[in-house]
Amino acid sequence: MDALSPATRTHCPYCALQCGMELHADAAGTSPLRAAGWDAFQVNRGALCQKGATSTELLNPALRLTAPLLRRTPGAELEPATWDEALDVAAARLTSIAADHGRAAVGVFGGGGLTHEKAYSLGKFARVVLRTPNIDYNGRFCMSAAAAASQRAFGVDRGLPFPLADVAQTDVILLVGSNLADTMPPALRYFTTQRENGGRLIVVDPRRTRTADQADLHLQPVPGTDAALAAGLLHVLIAEHLIDDDFIAARTSGFEEARAEAQRWWPERVEAVCGVPAGDVRAAARMFAGSRGSTGMVLTARGTEQQADGADAVNAWINVALAAGKAGRPYCGYGAITGQGNGQGGREHGQKADQLPGYRKITDPAAREHVAEVWGISPDALPGPGRPAVELLASCGADIRALLVAGSNPVVSAPDAEFVTSRLRELDFLMVSDVVLSETAALADVVFPVTQWAEETGTVTNLEGRVLLRRQAVAPPDGVRSDLDVMGGLAERLGWPGFLTAPAKVFTELALASAGGVADYSGLSHERLDATSEGVGLHWPCPTPDHPGTPRMFLDTFGTPDGLARFVPVACEPAVEEPSVDFPYRLTTGRVLAQYQSGAQTRRVPALNAAEPGPFVQLHPDLAAALAVAEGDPVRVTSRRGTAVAAARISDVIRPDTVFMPFHWAGPGRANVLTRRTTDPVSGMPAFKTAAVRVEAAQ
Ligand code: SF4
Repeated sequence: MDALSPATRTHCPYCALQCGMELHADAAGTSPLRAAGWDAFQVNRGALCQKGATSTELLNPALRLTAPLLRRTPGAELEPATWDEALDVAAARLTSIAADHGRAAVGVFGGGGLTHEKAYSLGKFARVVLRTPNIDYNGRFCMSAAAAASQRAFGVDRGLPFPLADVAQTDVILLVGSNLADTMPPALRYFTTQRENGGRLIVVDPRRTRTADQADLHLQPVPGTDAALAAGLLHVLIAEHLIDDDFIAARTSGFEEARAEAQRWWPERVEAVCGVPAGDVRAAARMFAGSRGSTGMVLTARGTEQQADGADAVNAWINVALAAGKAGRPYCGYGAITGQGNGQGGREHGQKADQLPGYRKITDPAAREHVAEVWGISPDALPGPGRPAVELLASCGADIRALLVAGSNPVVSAPDAEFVTSRLRELDFLMVSDVVLSETAALADVVFPVTQWAEETGTVTNLEGRVLLRRQAVAPPDGVRSDLDVMGGLAERLGWPGFLTAPAKVFTELALASAGGVADYSGLSHERLDATSEGVGLHWPCPTPDHPGTPRMFLDTFGTPDGLARFVPVACEPAVEEPSVDFPYRLTTGRVLAQYQSGAQTRRVPALNAAEPGPFVQLHPDLAAALAVAEGDPVRVTSRRGTAVAAARISDVIRPDTVFMPFHWAGPGRANVLTRRTTDPVSGMPAFKTAAVRVEAAQ
């Protein structure tokens, strides 16, 4: 591994904060790189969490795939192959499956960690080369509910429509379903500063997390009842005349319909449904409203979004912000705290079943015409919308006969994971591109070993809509190529020579394709980002080469056709799997500090494994006593879909009627064998956070 530079400034391979880091090599370039915080980068100012600090471990070739793998006959083991052999086999299988079953029988499943260049190319590859509509990605599991809610309310979805630094300046934060202290610790400093400035923090979470511990007020609802809780806050705002009439009249539409729903959610009824004391509902509404003209923000994350009514729940929280007049002005607004490294950008440029580059709708004739022209095809040749992720995976082995997976590990991360695994086994052909032999790659017929993060140049957009250049720091190991090369090699064999594989050229085409769209990148290029991203980056939209970018949106007008923010009237009855005699408890899932997503990367890093070596079931002392379970004892958790076994972790931070499991592990403690494939009808988001379960001692 040759070091290209003694200190390369780039960004973390993991979460959506995209902390700036410097990768240092020794003078000879012979030792592994060392990651250190990049002090000048505005977002993290030199801070890295444990994952970022140990991220160069991922570059160790001993942990990596370094040759393509091929299952030469059904049921045989995966064996090393040459790139040409693997590409030839993959192209031949895709050709024959499309001929036998139609082009739509080939599906593509991408990832929210892929760079813009890869995500954009994957969308183009699916629609132009494979000519299938069936492409979606694991961001559907992550951001889809917040994205749909933002589009309904504001006409635009950009995670945070303001810089994270604004959080430190606002008077009150309503943080819903986020445990930042564990998921992105360097972001916590903005919340700490906000409180040092005299601000107040309200946290909504069924668990008293390390983030909730810092709150002025912690609301601990029954999982899946968020929309009702939000409606309760709106009820109090209206009943106590804490709404901002001037803002509602001047900058919003639809208030009367939202008011009608909120009238049904008086605090005592909210207490009965959500388990939050009526007094706390009133206190939260009053604290959020603050004094006239004060500022405030509503921030949501997966806790409230990964529900069967995820988009409605987010809109219910947005309604609270709008009613209090806390949007459309400085230090106010709604934002979603994106999870995956390029979770924001990954949904902007065509990797999603219903979208084209520039965050355009694939059903919009003008968008189709524009993108088809950039791609050199007729708009009529462009497929229409495909199936969202859960539906796509469930169709595998049925009318989807081949699946190409890039940068995702659905065997661990998908809801009802054993069902998904069984569907993948039924495919005629499964192809996976990944850095490591993930649990999904282990099922594949062809596996391509691909470059990662510090081994390639590419771009990402962080949770603030800040477009960043990740710079290459080292050459990849021998035998490893980019996902772009995989697509280029296949495209050539499938009759589409000249598919772009150079990241800078891909980005130039992406920028062109995005021109005029909601997420307009047409003023950006690798060169400009290289020159200007010394500690800054540029926020989209950025429509011309001299445009300064748009750190704050909606100050004058919202992105809707009439420029008004919309109250979305939503039904607030909980959409949960209700506990029963056989399944009397509630399961909620999430992440821990030292692991990341499906764990395919972090489970291979020794320091992270030492910090968090395996799955666990967090349960309340009362429940542990009832089950005669002691700390560390094996606990069996069973839902209508499957069973998982993991060690007990007893804590009073969780409700007695609820258990929590992190979802990072495969094997017996695979939490997602328990979760539901039920999806939010608006966004396709699975209901990860609410499953009825039975809990037993496993001994
Ligand atoms: Fe990386 Fe996120 Fe940790 Fe920052 S907070 S170092 S981006 S994992």
